[in-house]
Amino acid sequence: MTESPKTDLAALDLEGLAAFLKTLGEPKYRAGQIFRWIHRRGVTDVAMMTDLSKALREKLSARAFVGAMSIARVERAADGTRKYALRTKKGDVVEAVFIPDASAEGRNTLCISSQVGCAIDCKFCLTASLGLLRNLEAHEIVEQITRVKEDLGTLVDPEAGPPIQNIVMMGMGEPLQNYSNVVSALKMISSQDCHNISPRRITVSTSGLAPRIPRLGNDVSVNLAVSLNATTDAVRDRIMPINKKYNIEQVLDACRAFPMKQRQRITFEYVLLADENDSDADARRLVKLLEGIPAKVNVIPFNEHPYSPFKRPSAERIESFQRIVADSGVAVFVRTPRGDDISAACGQLGAEVDAPRKMLRIVD
Ligand code: SF4
Repeated sequence: MTESPKTDLAALDLEGLAAFLKTLGEPKYRAGQIFRWIHRRGVTDVAMMTDLSKALREKLSARAFVGAMSIARVERAADGTRKYALRTKKGDVVEAVFIPDASAEGRNTLCISSQVGCAIDCKFCLTASLGLLRNLEAHEIVEQITRVKEDLGTLVDPEAGPPIQNIVMMGMGEPLQNYSNVVSALKMISSQDCHNISPRRITVSTSGLAPRIPRLGNDVSVNLAVSLNATTDAVRDRIMPINKKYNIEQVLDACRAFPMKQRQRITFEYVLLADENDSDADARRLVKLLEGIPAKVNVIPFNEHPYSPFKRPSAERIESFQRIVADSGVAVFVRTPRGDDISAACGQLGAEVDAPRKMLRIVD
């Protein structure tokens, strides 16, 4: 008789765990205990789940295992940024980037991925050159946080290292194309049984899958970032082909329908590409487009890399663009790419877009 394959406990949600435990004749409440061991404490060995009886641990070891990602590589920058290549159980690699905040607020951020590769094909992004390899499952999205916390030393003892206060989903992939896994992951991340991070401290960044924008806001009360990057459809069609499906007007209408709390704002990411989208006229059009939307703008001067024809605008151009937007009363920040010496940050986060492909090459 062939043995049935072992069950991966990490891949089960609470209901799934309860159903599996029922097959072992175990009560439902055990599901919560096991879930917390795996997702809050990062334990990957059933033997370490010490509040379970020895008999249950032995039963679990015979029938199940805890699958885990491994850290294939960490690159540390002088400014404290850490870029992680995480190898999934299926053998592919995703990136997560820890970005410390040196300001008085001291809020550290972790940027995580939602897919392996990406199908959206933004022309300034190297993740795009991978194409979409697969969607990450909900637990794989969540586990990026677990493994990074483990590396930072804060998994078991939150005081032991720099905490993670903010989560941004701006790594590899278009989150809204992996909708159900992303929403399940967001709910897990904010659950007390898992990382207990408030949805107010979570931001999901989209290239503009318009119909799913209001839906996201209705399903989870996270913050929204939109990768806009152009002020005319002609330019956006060229640099972000998704615009041919959902144009600027449709994306902005979807933003207007995104449910917002008082003082909440939508972040518009604008990767500044020399002679493409960086003129004063662009800045003025941007202000006009955002009228009526509680918005802030992150201007991200493009970081040149050998795989892209795009250039970084001059410092004067960047300043002029910023000044026009700021003078209109819209909050605008020029984002300094973090971890310059390790080419850190994600596709949209810091326009350090060579990271994923480079990392895949490093660890393959
Ligand atoms: S910028 Fe984001 S949405 Fe666009 S191709 Fe890169 S990863 Fe995908």
